[in-house]
Amino acid sequence: MANIEVIMGDITTQKVDAIVNAANSTMLGGGGVDGAIHRAAGRELYEECLKVPEGPGGRCPRGQCVVTGAGRLPCKKVIHTVGPVYGGGAGDAKVLGDCYRNCLVAAEREGIESMAFPNISTGVYGYPLREAAEVAINAVREILPKTPSVKLVRFVCFNRENYQIYEELLKR
Ligand code: ADP
Repeated sequence: MANIEVIMGDITTQKVDAIVNAANSTMLGGGGVDGAIHRAAGRELYEECLKVPEGPGGRCPRGQCVVTGAGRLPCKKVIHTVGPVYGGGAGDAKVLGDCYRNCLVAAEREGIESMAFPNISTGVYGYPLREAAEVAINAVREILPKTPSVKLVRFVCFNRENYQIYEELLKR
């Protein structure tokens, strides 16, 4: 069974096979972690994203993911996923859980052994931190037995509050 760990840090510096980007459906960058990843990765990543065909839900529909190269980042791949905008409805947790599950399924397909997740939807998308962490951890624990190539999942928290929540929940 894979290791699940939490650190406080910047996802753009993680030396893992793949980092996950909390993108938006255009996949062309934005604020928060998306902006940080595109700044650090450079033009190559942007151009690769531009080539992803646009469907009805944009380049990447909510809850789905798209794998690209990583430009100048120290990882090998970026898995772009689009989280839900928190509205308080029952569908939010399903879509957020789908993000984590689909990223792990994509990682398995790519033969990825180590990956890092940001706290998807907890920035401008407004998902309450504890609820989002519970969904994230449950989804990862649920799918990991089906993605045996993935040996390490690292949650990268950008602030202490998120870090403490993950630390507490991962002990359970
Ligand atoms: P969303 O639109 O999915 O809410 P945001 O980028 O606004 O995405 O926020 C998602 C999470 O990413 C937030 O918890 C934010 O603090 C965190 N974050 C922002 N920059 C970084 C970074 N460089 N590394 C890791 N996490 C980051």
